[in-house]
Amino acid sequence: MTQVFESATSRAQTPFINQPFIDFSEPGNRKAQEDALAQVKGELGQTYPLIIGGKKIVNDATFASVNPSQPDQVVGYFSKATVEQTNEAIQAAATAFETWKHVPATERADYLFKAAELMRQRRLYLNAWMIYEVGKSWAEADGDTAEAIDFLEFYAREMLRLADEQPITHIEGEDNQLVYIPLGVCAVIPPWNFPCAIMAGMTSAAFVAGNTVILKPASTSPAIAAQFVRILEEVGLPTGVVDFLTGSGSVIGDTLVQNPQVRFIAFTGSREVGLHINELAAKHQPGQRWLKRTILEMGGKDAVVVDETADLEAAATGIVSSAFGFQGQKCSAGSRAIIVEQVYDTVLQKVIEKTKHLTMGDVTQPSTYMGPVVDENAMKKILDYIEIGKSEGRLVTGGGHHGPGYFIEPTVIADVSPQARIAQEEIFGPVLAVIKAKGFDDALNIANGTEFGLTGSLYSNDQQRIERAKEEFHVGNLYFNRKCTGALVGVHPFGGFNMSGTDSKAGSRDYLLLFTQAKVISSKK
Ligand code: NDP
Repeated sequence: MTQVFESATSRAQTPFINQPFIDFSEPGNRKAQEDALAQVKGELGQTYPLIIGGKKIVNDATFASVNPSQPDQVVGYFSKATVEQTNEAIQAAATAFETWKHVPATERADYLFKAAELMRQRRLYLNAWMIYEVGKSWAEADGDTAEAIDFLEFYAREMLRLADEQPITHIEGEDNQLVYIPLGVCAVIPPWNFPCAIMAGMTSAAFVAGNTVILKPASTSPAIAAQFVRILEEVGLPTGVVDFLTGSGSVIGDTLVQNPQVRFIAFTGSREVGLHINELAAKHQPGQRWLKRTILEMGGKDAVVVDETADLEAAATGIVSSAFGFQGQKCSAGSRAIIVEQVYDTVLQKVIEKTKHLTMGDVTQPSTYMGPVVDENAMKKILDYIEIGKSEGRLVTGGGHHGPGYFIEPTVIADVSPQARIAQEEIFGPVLAVIKAKGFDDALNIANGTEFGLTGSLYSNDQQRIERAKEEFHVGNLYFNRKCTGALVGVHPFGGFNMSGTDSKAGSRDYLLLFTQAKVISSKK
């Protein structure tokens, strides 16, 4: 191990840099990804256990994670954890916390550096799992794995920074010190859409800060989470520090949130579930000794705004990639294009043409841009929204769907009113609402006119408007003259306002503070 892995102390000397994306136009890389896809194909259909305090348990009752491109292909079988097992996992994490909290930060960070190294070695293999399990294109899967590695590398360094002496004002006659200590047991509840990055990011942030974790992956993406948990096992993370609990959120979620031994919840997912968790966590349970903390990152109804001074070609390209990357299933997806009337028709025409050129189909092929949506429920919900959209605007391209997988054409609905349902509600699929604004002021008002506030983008060459947007465009992540998706760890700390969540800014210097509490120690000299 010591030959392969650098220690935290030496690794931390090197500044954090983002993982570069793999260039799949290079034949060697293409072949390597194809080989990884073939390898993972041979591993599909296995059964995975729950891991509670290091014990591996396979229940009689299981559920299947399936390939949304080909739903008769089972990616893996997973145990349906019961409420009793959920309480056992929480107990195991609580027990592990009693020792883990004393492990020095350098040692905890080392596990992240080691896991990051294994993930780099297995990058294409991890990509392949996501291509099968959630229908990511090669580039989207690779971005997901790269982001997961970035989170590990970033949070390991952040923990070492927080473990260092903290700057406080000195006074005569006293020694004062501020230290960041862990909170306790964390329920980590990630979504399926960044099933590696967000899952690994929230989990690693929690345990590097000295907490223990119950990781309950989304039920449509437990296989990639199982791969990550396997890596944690391989790097020797002590048992109980991360307990792995699969099963439906609607069955075990409330127990995870309410159990009095759970100190805090790190959740990323929908507005509905986020609000539910927020409410439950706020209610004191018998035996609970703290105010439960919640870290909640929720949905978006993000906008790309285009004014008449913009580079219209670049704007149309940005609108299309913001709307349709990973089938529009990103919290940051630009599901609204708000275009000022002077250039509305021109930009709309360009958007339609570019959308028609997108490739959709077999994501095991490198040339495919769009795959399926994640499951049948998602498909039905999105198709319902497309029907609603047809009555709220003008369907200008797309709208259809294809089987046997859950494929929905990239869909553009024009002339949508800012208050229409498809302009207000998160659809989480490849559906773009195009809205005409009277001018820049109107466009900005429309952009801010939803209950969300996650990402936004303005295409403009008017510096005064850019300055105004910096003040008035009320989103957690604001971009100019580029798409509104694709945040990089450390570069674009990520999180949103209003109903988009607690603005936790994943991948930032503030993030680990959410997973710790500060203690001040003062001694009279
Ligand atoms: P969901 O809210 O449906 O699910 C998220 C997680 O919550 C899953 O693990 C799910 O488990 C679990 N869950 C479901 N019900 C409960 C419950 N009652 N108690 C506790 N946990 C529960 O979201 P999706 O997985 O569909 O993810 C898509 C959503 O995530 C979108 O709204 C998107 O905008 C948002 N998102 C936000 C991001 C951000 O940074 N703001 C980033 C990425 C996504 P199960 O799968 O078993 O139901």
